[in-house]
Amino acid sequence: MATSTIVLLTTGGTVAATTTADGAVPALSAADLLPDLSTPRTDPLPDITVSAVDLMSVDSSAMTSADRSRIIGAIGDTLADPEVVAVVVTHGTDTMEETAYLADLFHTDERPVVFTGAQFPADAPNADGPRNIEDALRVAADPSSRGKGTLVVLGGRMWSARGIFKVSTDNPIAFDTTHPDLPRPVIDADISAVAHARVDAFTLYPGVSPGLIAAAVSQNAAGIVLAATGSGNTHPDVTAQVAQAVHDGVVVVVTSRVPYGPIVPTYGGGGGAVDLERAGAIISRWLRAPQARIALAVLLGAGHDAAQIAEFFRASDPAIG
Ligand code: ASP
Repeated sequence: MATSTIVLLTTGGTVAATTTADGAVPALSAADLLPDLSTPRTDPLPDITVSAVDLMSVDSSAMTSADRSRIIGAIGDTLADPEVVAVVVTHGTDTMEETAYLADLFHTDERPVVFTGAQFPADAPNADGPRNIEDALRVAADPSSRGKGTLVVLGGRMWSARGIFKVSTDNPIAFDTTHPDLPRPVIDADISAVAHARVDAFTLYPGVSPGLIAAAVSQNAAGIVLAATGSGNTHPDVTAQVAQAVHDGVVVVVTSRVPYGPIVPTYGGGGGAVDLERAGAIISRWLRAPQARIALAVLLGAGHDAAQIAEFFRASDPAIG
């Protein structure tokens, strides 16, 4: 019987890390990460052939925009082969929510792209990478995974990339989501043609210096993402700086430092999300700061204006999109 080919692209992270006297660092190659399909750790695997490709070997916290673009480009190049039924990407969990979401933004193909990683290094007694890779291959080979965009598999769970965020430094179930079924406005472009604009992100708190927004503008940030308090609220002085930044042509997106629930403009008083929206900020209802920052960087890089970006965030809301 003909087998299906799945390509395993490896990028580093804890899943490929071993422990050294100087800390855990990615050390294993793609070939090292290939599971022995004849002796699966859990359920039997479908009839698949896995071909492993070393893409890079980095801790995901140290990834650059160029690294992320390279990964998305490699996914596209891999799917140019019609024999390939799916792609699995191994990646550090620290910034998997960013790269998997970026992949989802550019993923217009029906075939599954599945990200996985690990919370414990490959030489740890509780290493979770091998099982996660097997699970990711199983999900990738499953025809019901087609047309779902980019998926993330870890700790026996699966999520759509959109909306996820890392919730634990040591639980094998490393992620959760703000919403399991966000709409998928995609960017129909070749990622190699999209520059990443500079977008700065700040977590707000009572007593935050409003000057940090002016500092970002003076350093030529094209966009700013604010993880505000509660349902998108801050001090009136910050609102004044947001108005100035928008006036200067900077696109400001407001999300929340609270993990769950929609960001609904509710409060006024000068610093509420109602005021921030009136000052020209765009509200990201479900995508939290790391993913909102990725979207804003590529939308600005692709030449979208503030109105188009506002429309993108509206279309990312299941109540609208
Ligand atoms: N620091 C690692 C990384 O993101 C953590 C992990 O993979 O879990 O590459």
